[in-house]
Amino acid sequence: MVARIIPVDPFDLVIFGASGDLARRKILPGLFRRLIAGQMPPNARIIGSARSKWDDDAFRKEVSNAIKEFSPKEYKNTEKLNEFLKTLHYLPVDVLGDTGWKELAALIKKDANPVRAFYLSVGPSLFDDIAERLTKSGIATKDSRIVVEKPFGHDLETAHQLNEQLRRNFKEHQIYRIDHYLGKETVQNLMALRFANALLEPVWNAQHVDHVQISVSETIGIEGRGGYYDNSGAMRDMVQNHLMQLLCLTAMEPPARFEANDVRDEKLKVIRSLDPVEPDDIVRGQYRANGKAGSYKDDAENPDSRTESFIAMKVHISNWRWTGVPFYLRTGKKLRARMSEIAVIFKDPPHSIFPNAEIRHGGNSLVIRLQPDEGITMHMIIKEPGQGGLRLTEVPLDMSFADALKGAPLDIADAYERLLMDVIRGDQTLFMRGDEVEAAWAWVDPIIEAWQHAGDTPEPYDAGGSGPDGSLALMHREDRRWRPIEV
Ligand code: NAP
Repeated sequence: MVARIIPVDPFDLVIFGASGDLARRKILPGLFRRLIAGQMPPNARIIGSARSKWDDDAFRKEVSNAIKEFSPKEYKNTEKLNEFLKTLHYLPVDVLGDTGWKELAALIKKDANPVRAFYLSVGPSLFDDIAERLTKSGIATKDSRIVVEKPFGHDLETAHQLNEQLRRNFKEHQIYRIDHYLGKETVQNLMALRFANALLEPVWNAQHVDHVQISVSETIGIEGRGGYYDNSGAMRDMVQNHLMQLLCLTAMEPPARFEANDVRDEKLKVIRSLDPVEPDDIVRGQYRANGKAGSYKDDAENPDSRTESFIAMKVHISNWRWTGVPFYLRTGKKLRARMSEIAVIFKDPPHSIFPNAEIRHGGNSLVIRLQPDEGITMHMIIKEPGQGGLRLTEVPLDMSFADALKGAPLDIADAYERLLMDVIRGDQTLFMRGDEVEAAWAWVDPIIEAWQHAGDTPEPYDAGGSGPDGSLALMHREDRRWRPIEV
């Protein structure tokens, strides 16, 4: 199997916040890898901008160091690295001031590059100023694209404000709201798996599916992001965006075409079909110290914090396809392993013709792994090989993408790389539309308000464990089990 690389059109990409962490860790190394892959056209230009008083040379040095740190294998390709560094330019701009914009306009306008994109790798409080100044200074045209990062709002009201601010200067088709989970190979494969095979669709419904588990588990804590995280928690930081997107792609109806608005219309319908969640169907957790691992409260430097670093919840979708099928969502920090997966657990056969053979509930499941080792596993029940009566056993039919793509000349593009190239191509399929984001907040807000109203305190769980006991009980009370948090 050979990965096909289609170069994108020439572009000018301006990165606001080019001196920041996201640009250093993800955006710039990702663009470099696309250049190595042959996807970046030779006349593409990347213009970094921030308040730091750098020039082109200083920026190139910074980017070279960032690539060395975050993409060490590719860094060794000196010829390509030099080629990439030549595409880089830098202009110091304080986006809250009026200086620097004329220079930026002049730099961009020198070329007649057809694609003009602005990546706002800065805090959301700066989006409005940047959008406005880009338009006023004539830098943004009606075909330009603007890319914004999460968090997209803190609640429905703030998300709505951000949408309004962006839409004052850009049309919806120009706005690319990134949720990097949507750029993962497996997430797109979920759509291919569901809609390019006739096999699964007939069983992808309440008649055949017992329940669905969506887990995103991290081993890291809040890692210096305490100030932001303690004001957000797992519900805002993970459920409202990443888990919601995974839920939508798993549950949505087949869109008429694999095109941005068709896909996003179907996702929106799922969000609007979500029932309000019963308080008994949610477990909030907060990690406590365990051995050398410190507690959440220590990490957040807030001894009174009531912010959740873990959430498990049972969610219902009221529509023809899914009524009666629980979707269990689970995410947390400082857990036993780093893994993300969607598991569709099918119902047991209606009648067993093997009265003496023990069949475990949920023996048939389809597990879509997002990380680590992206891939898909179908669990089947077969006869245990050998003599001594008919015994049944569960076997995995496993497909790891790394194995499936062995021999391909290039690694699979990571989520950021793919999304960056989609921006240049003008393909919004894997980006969130404004109404989707607002609908997700409209569902999440009452849940958070109810906790605040009740003064809810999260249940402690050991750092390095599998989450609070209440999360296990959420499943056990319905005779179900979480899939283990393990790699
Ligand atoms: P960061 O490290 O704090 O970087 C912020 C950037 O904004 C810096 O380059 C800073 O540069 C620039 N900046 C701040 N005020 C400015 C101003 N007035 N004018 C011009 N530039 C200004 O933040 P980050 O981690 O890169 O995150 C950027 C955005 O991405 C945030 O919204 C964050 O929530 C989101 N995000 C980040 C990650 C991640 O992994 N880091 C992941 C998901 C989402 P100067 O100080 O030089 O001006």
